[in-house]
Amino acid sequence: MQTAVDDSTLFRFDGLDLYPLIHAVTTRNPALPGDGDINIAGRLPLDEALANRRAWADLIGIDASALVAGRQVHGTHVQVVDEQQRGRGALRIEDAIPQTDALITRTLGLPLIIYTADCVPVLVYDPVVHAVGLAHAGWRGTVGNIAGSVVAAMSAAFGSRPANLIVRLGPSIGPCCYEVGDEVIDAWRASGVEHLVEAIDPREPRDYLDLWRANSLAFEAAGVLPDHVESSEICTRCHAERYFSRRAGQGHRGLFATIAQLQPRPYEGDVQGDD
Ligand SMILES: [Zn+2]
Repeated sequence: MQTAVDDSTLFRFDGLDLYPLIHAVTTRNPALPGDGDINIAGRLPLDEALANRRAWADLIGIDASALVAGRQVHGTHVQVVDEQQRGRGALRIEDAIPQTDALITRTLGLPLIIYTADCVPVLVYDPVVHAVGLAHAGWRGTVGNIAGSVVAAMSAAFGSRPANLIVRLGPSIGPCCYEVGDEVIDAWRASGVEHLVEAIDPREPRDYLDLWRANSLAFEAAGVLPDHVESSEICTRCHAERYFSRRAGQGHRGLFATIAQLQPRPYEGDVQGDD
């Protein structure tokens, strides 16, 4: 018998399970109010949204009241967080860190959360210094180079070397479905950034954008190795039964979450080895 939320209702990125890192992406779940919408500042009454949040947190194995969230504004500000921010935005959106679309930390046991519903959720992990970051990259964040901002912030705050970083792009609107208006295309072309222009797919009557390609190339431009950048290539609109998708329209006013929390590393002091 299936419970309301079980592990199959989570998405997990490839290649991260060998690290001391909890991570998960929530989905739509008809067994929960509002299909499991995790947004505490949206259409659901706060008590229902918080109950959903607790249900997901329990499943993932983190403390819902400790979550650290930013107030996402489609910007490129990256906030370094530690114990002092524990719980900011967990229970009240007013407490979330203002004007913040990316969070990075090296604090163990501190759960980070970002919200999306077509924009790209990005997870960046540094297995060498053991640091993690989450970012929310829509077209504005992408054209503003939030990818490069996260890499720079992790380098400055933690001494991360770009070549060590592992990047995962989560479920989000794909190049199959991301039809955009001229104002978006104009902004991308005006950036003059080659990899942004490359990610435009000219069509009639309107052009399409590839946020996965644009962000992958942006991380590579920031020094991340191509082999270390992987997109889930799951389009939220094509898979609207499983993910909230703004573009899918009615019934999709919710948000799903990407959550990450560093766990303690195995003791590294014992170099004697034994058998
Ligand atoms: Zn699609």
